[in-house]
Amino acid sequence: MILNPERYECPEHHTDLTSLVEEALEFQGRPVAYRPGPRPFQVIVTCEGGGTGAHSLTCTGTRNP
Ligand SMILES: [Zn+2]
Repeated sequence: MILNPERYECPEHHTDLTSLVEEALEFQGRPVAYRPGPRPFQVIVTCEGGGTGAHSLTCTGTRNP
């Protein structure tokens, strides 16, 4: 799975969210009707924050496949 952008980061806390995005996409599974080429996605991940509590964040991009 190739992601674009390759990295996801919370703009507030600068925590690396890439693995969370990948996990969320794995959980969604592969697209049922496979077509080659990148397709857009949107997932909601939880940033643990910088001691101010967790918050959710919407990450968008494209995945291939
Ligand atoms: Zn954050």
